[in-house]
Amino acid sequence: LSEVSRVLEKLKLFIEPVEQANQPITEDLLLDAISKNEITPFYQPKINRATKRITSVEVLARIVSNETGQLILPDRFIGVAEDLDLINLITFQLFEKATEDFQEIRQTLHGEVKLAFNLSPLQLDDYGCPDKLALILELNHLKPENIILEITEHQPLNRPLQLETLNRLRMRGFDISLDDYGTGFTNLSQLKTLPLNEIKLDRSLVSHIDTDRFSQVIVDGLVDIAQNEGIVLVAEGIERIEELNYLERYKNTLLMQGFLISRPKSKREFLRWALSWLRMINSDQ
Ligand code: C2E
Ligand code: MG
Ligand code: MG
Ligand code: MG
Repeated sequence: LSEVSRVLEKLKLFIEPVEQANQPITEDLLLDAISKNEITPFYQPKINRATKRITSVEVLARIVSNETGQLILPDRFIGVAEDLDLINLITFQLFEKATEDFQEIRQTLHGEVKLAFNLSPLQLDDYGCPDKLALILELNHLKPENIILEITEHQPLNRPLQLETLNRLRMRGFDISLDDYGTGFTNLSQLKTLPLNEIKLDRSLVSHIDTDRFSQVIVDGLVDIAQNEGIVLVAEGIERIEELNYLERYKNTLLMQGFLISRPKSKREFLRWALSWLRMINSDQ
């Protein structure tokens, strides 16, 4: 009987977290994680389908417990951090770690590759944002030209100061990317007013694009606009081979990202994945 209860006890560890998996974490937990330096970058590549090159690597925030190694996903803490005005602290912790990791990533990939960070529109309300980011880069011997800033549209992006900060970031040499396009607040005419280098098509447009006529028409139009404006398009959230095959027709315009190619991974796992990807494309040639 004690054997049985021991096993049940163990199982509970696996079963219980599922219920709470999507709950926002508490302020205490978040402050604790920040002060223990537990905000950790995970990495997910964007691929040029025509050349198979890894053109950039997106940094996705995780809390990794120093003691247990337990992982907390950003959907549970980015919103909390925004509400408590702690989002800058998270970005700077990530920025420091990822720009340090980047030297190794660049060496492994030996080629032009950029690092992409997610910024909340709220962070564009901070007039000092461009200077702070540039300073951290300088300390790590990097340039804004190495960096893409993905603006996530969970909040509207329409205040004059936000636009001004975006323009200043762009003038400093950062690439600007509009994330989750198709779900947020930016309509087609607004696209023209934003200083964009890249637009990321939301997963809702990409999943089932092989059969969904509506998504096909929209993506076709956006590819057209992007080509005319010289903007890079990224399809995010590619999970199925059918989606990848359908998108093949845009392979000269559209970068690919998704679980099918690689899930977000720790630095170690990502470098391992990247080496086998390089081996694969070299043996193809
Ligand atoms: P995002 O920037 O749009 O990132 C894409 C999210 O989709 C990531 O979730 C990624 O793991 C997931 N994903 C990638 N490929 C696939 C796929 O093929 N299928 C599915 N189902 N999902 C896929 P994650 O890492 O949980 O991040 C969620 C969101 O949290 C991000 O969405 C971004 O908006 C936000 N976030 C993450 N890190 C940061 C950060 O450092 N700062 C800010 N402000 N927001 C962040
Ligand atoms: Mg993103
Ligand atoms: Mg996205
Ligand atoms: Mg998203």
